[in-house]
Amino acid sequence: MSDNPYRRIPSVSEILAIPTLGDCRTRFAHELIVAAVREEIATLRSRVSAGEPVNGDALPEQIAIRAVLRLEQQLRPKLLSVINATGIVLHTNLGRAPVSTEAAEAAKQAAGGYLNLELDLETGKRSSRQIAISEWLCRLTGAEAATAVNNNAAATVIVLRAIAQGKEVILSRGQLIEIGGSFRIPEIMAVSGAILREVGTTNITRLSDYERAIGPNTGALLQIHTSNYRVSGFTRTVSISELVSLGQRYGLPVIDDIGSGALIDFRRFGFVGEPVAKDSIAAGADLVLFSGDKLLGGPQAGIIVGKKHWIQRIEKDPMMRAFRLDKMTLAALESTLRCYLDESRALQTIPVLRLLGTPMEELRARAVRLADQIAKIPGIEDVVVREEDAFVGGGSLPDQSMKSWIVSFQPVGQSEEQLAYRLRTGRHAVMSRVQDGRLLLDLRTIFPAQMELLVQMLGEASSS
Ligand SMILES: *Cc1c(COP(=O)(O)O)cnc(C)c1O
Repeated sequence: MSDNPYRRIPSVSEILAIPTLGDCRTRFAHELIVAAVREEIATLRSRVSAGEPVNGDALPEQIAIRAVLRLEQQLRPKLLSVINATGIVLHTNLGRAPVSTEAAEAAKQAAGGYLNLELDLETGKRSSRQIAISEWLCRLTGAEAATAVNNNAAATVIVLRAIAQGKEVILSRGQLIEIGGSFRIPEIMAVSGAILREVGTTNITRLSDYERAIGPNTGALLQIHTSNYRVSGFTRTVSISELVSLGQRYGLPVIDDIGSGALIDFRRFGFVGEPVAKDSIAAGADLVLFSGDKLLGGPQAGIIVGKKHWIQRIEKDPMMRAFRLDKMTLAALESTLRCYLDESRALQTIPVLRLLGTPMEELRARAVRLADQIAKIPGIEDVVVREEDAFVGGGSLPDQSMKSWIVSFQPVGQSEEQLAYRLRTGRHAVMSRVQDGRLLLDLRTIFPAQMELLVQMLGEASSS
């Protein structure tokens, strides 16, 4: 009996008496520790039953250490801060736009306390939560009224519902977009209850195509910015002002989904063709829709600006409550919008604008400094600094790259994929790019304050 290998496995209470586990009682609930210990014992038992030797692994101290590691692994938060070294400014998988420090602070204040979310402090009466953002949006876009919902997908649904339920909405075949996964215009249209009426062809749509499709059941004319693709070559589209004049002739509202929500002209960054919200309002669009977390650089939101009677109708729609913004988002959005009241301040404080606007000389200088430090790390060789093209991402400006500076290198003793994996799963996650057997770190999206941590994480991921 004495050589029964199961007898070498200690009992749960024996393991719980180990000081290692006593120390972690402040961090983990007792039941969780017990469960982790049981899981370790179960693993040992199955190893024994498979005829595997367990030896030192069965020592109570060893089991306790593994139980703690297991707990730390299992109970790690799922959402972790990531250093974005991909160069993609609006990286949808990394949360799109990082908001400004002020916006984050506003969200934090709103989250942790009470606020006048739906209360008029003057009268002491109930008010609307949209007040926090509508005036700023009107000032920034020149619109009569404004409101906001969860994202631009929700904005599209609610606008179509409120304006054109059961009616035909005329749209060019060149603008039947899909924005990742389930946001496809025909489906969105169906969900909203509006009837899609496609006109023109993929590459050519004329004003006469829209006009011929107008009938007694037409509810609106819709224009959608082809944010994430371009139809180029032999093409023709109708401008928003042409569409507006047609709409006015027939008494039909014109809806303009401009996508990224540029509040300023992006030509300053060398990007062309990005519609600006106030231009669309000035052209006479009845409703203009855009995201809060793309080029606008704020939190996730779907912003709707335009004519007062339409906005009022949208706000009365029963879906408004299902789509409405929460207090944290509203606070962050208000802060972001207020920042745009002074354009030069916006350029300095809104991270998306700051990242896009960082001069190349500065990125180069940072790349050189980073490369110097990386070159000292054992396990990394052939460190090179060079220029590279990067994309804005987030489904914005798909055909226009922007120059950046990168540090590129090769790992020693592990593959580039392995190093990229270790960087992602290390003490602080780092998202890099892998290309042609090398690892790339793009300085465009690395915040200067993260440089030291980035070097540390590279050191940890490169050590064997
Ligand atoms: C991104 C985008 C959407 C979807 O916006 P979300 O805020 O991601 O829901 C809709 N329309 C256009 C034109 C877009 O670019």
